[in-house]
Amino acid sequence: MKINSDLHTHTLYSHGKSTIEENVLSALSLGLKKIAITEHGLGHITYGVKKEDWVKMRQEVDQLKIKYPQIKILLGVEANITGMKGTLDVTPDQEKNLDIINCGYHYGVRVDSIHDFFSFYLLNLLAKLIPAFKNKAREVNTRALLLAMDRYKINMITHPGAKVPIDIDKIARKAAEKKVLLEINAHHKHLNEEDLLKAMKYEVRFSINSDAHHASHIGRLEEGIKIAEEAGLSYERIENGEDD
Ligand SMILES: [Zn+2]
Ligand SMILES: [Zn+2]
Repeated sequence: MKINSDLHTHTLYSHGKSTIEENVLSALSLGLKKIAITEHGLGHITYGVKKEDWVKMRQEVDQLKIKYPQIKILLGVEANITGMKGTLDVTPDQEKNLDIINCGYHYGVRVDSIHDFFSFYLLNLLAKLIPAFKNKAREVNTRALLLAMDRYKINMITHPGAKVPIDIDKIARKAAEKKVLLEINAHHKHLNEEDLLKAMKYEVRFSINSDAHHASHIGRLEEGIKIAEEAGLSYERIENGEDD
């Protein structure tokens, strides 16, 4: 199996270490067909990219598309869940102007309300400390992701299961219905093999990405490919996969 694109990368605009152009050049040197710059959504307290920078990134990406026509360059967001009703930190403007919207759970996010603070931070903390809370946390986290898939046109859920517990069966069933990709994140190693095997029972498609925070990490997909191969996932079900 070969992976021909990297659909999840970060840059200096958040806490990455390279420019957008350096990411593009790295992808080109690897012979990739497509690269997506998917910066952290506004709602992340430390990594979130500010509103004015989204305009700059759009301009930069549009210029690079002209400079490097041999590779497809997408500008996207890795949005955060900010409320348990499935709200994301994307503005209507971003929904219109970005090429892709990915979303995933992250800590360090400004949530919508005190109620969301308890349901997200407190419940997930309790779930880590006291096993009895894990089911409730899983249920609440899962419901928010399901609602987000109804509220927004989401392209991919990033590293499902890496940060908070989720019910992968429910997520995969809904993702199949809504044509949302599930990521096999080579850096976080999620989906892990166990969850991938469960998700594969549904008609959902997958994508293997680096989540690179440095240009030199683009295309580092070995751990993701290993998970897919060990689960027996065919390249045909991987959005950026091909036969080699
Ligand atoms: Zn992430
Ligand atoms: Zn990321």
